[in-house]
Amino acid sequence: MRITAIRATTVTVPLEAPLLHSNGAHWGRFVRTLVEIEADNGLVGLGEMGGGGEGAEAAFAALAPHLAGHDPFELEALRFKIANPTASLYNNRTQMLAAIEFACLDLVGQHLGVPVHDLLGGRVRDSVPFASYLFYRYPGAGGSPEVRTPDQLVEHARALKAAHGFTVHKLKGGVFPPAHELECYRALADAFPGDRLRYDPNSVLSLDEGLRFGKAIEDLDNDYLEDPVLGLEGLRLVRERVNVPLATNTVVVNFEQLAANVLRRGADVVLLDTTFWGGIRACVKAAGVCETFQIGVAVHSSGELGVQLATMLHLGAVLPNLTYAADAHYHHLADDVIEGGPMAYADGRIAVPSGPGLGVRLDRDKVAEYAELYKELGGYPYDRDPGRPGWYPLVPNDRWADPAAPLPALD
Ligand code: MG
Repeated sequence: MRITAIRATTVTVPLEAPLLHSNGAHWGRFVRTLVEIEADNGLVGLGEMGGGGEGAEAAFAALAPHLAGHDPFELEALRFKIANPTASLYNNRTQMLAAIEFACLDLVGQHLGVPVHDLLGGRVRDSVPFASYLFYRYPGAGGSPEVRTPDQLVEHARALKAAHGFTVHKLKGGVFPPAHELECYRALADAFPGDRLRYDPNSVLSLDEGLRFGKAIEDLDNDYLEDPVLGLEGLRLVRERVNVPLATNTVVVNFEQLAANVLRRGADVVLLDTTFWGGIRACVKAAGVCETFQIGVAVHSSGELGVQLATMLHLGAVLPNLTYAADAHYHHLADDVIEGGPMAYADGRIAVPSGPGLGVRLDRDKVAEYAELYKELGGYPYDRDPGRPGWYPLVPNDRWADPAAPLPALD
């Protein structure tokens, strides 16, 4: 089997509402680039990457000469062809490598007639548990209400739990002053006794704020405190003084950083991201190191459509030491680009695809519709907030000053 062509298509798919985070917002839609790799046997493998536009489409097209004639089975050679660790200082292709690795695994799986998880050691579970992943929300275009107060947040979580069966709730914070977010977090604990909680302000608390927040939740049923402050040393300082496990998806995203965390522990739990780490296989390797050193493992979400979600499911299927629910933004989407429509949750879990390869195929009409929508709307900056023109994020952050004021409706 040999690669003959690569094609990248940027799409934008609506979310139910704009989602706030510490660096700005997801502006009511995700922008993703779908990658298709054709082989000489007529098969097409699928990949996906965050962001996009003409630059991303051109960057993938520019890799065509490196990929032409490459055997998709040769995944280690691919890693050095695309993202040699020293050349990557200049090329920065790790996320592109990930999308191409997904597509190659999809090709190999289809060629052999086996699901990707069978290429990664075989599954140890048939479905992967997910957390509810709660965001503060602007009012949505489709009439969904703002999410700002403790009551609104609990009501939102209750609806998600009723619809999807979540028993773990992650609050994305760093938006309002910590005292308000603490009130929200404790309201979730009161509303859902027996469920587990996690809080992630995307590193924007000061050390003092992080210590105070951590101390104030020690009595609750916490999975972990995720990136409360910036940096591995920052996490280590919080970890020394707070009796809650510390997690990160930001400062342990490669093997050098994982080594640093082994030698000088800052994070008890590492959230593995199939894109940030450069592929599903890199995440499996990292999970093996974590198993050896008793570092917990979870699955990170960087905002996914069905192709990337499939990579997360195959990863989650094969990790014996996946002792935490995975994260997904998926249930905030209004639609997807895969055949059959969005994958469904049952009892807070999503079934691992069992078809050959990644087990998902593109719905051509949906891809065309959302590629057209991207051409119409373009991209948006992740680190800007459409509700606060001129604002940009600092660390520690300056947050919405008044959580008592309703969030504005956006255009
Ligand atoms: Mg995070």
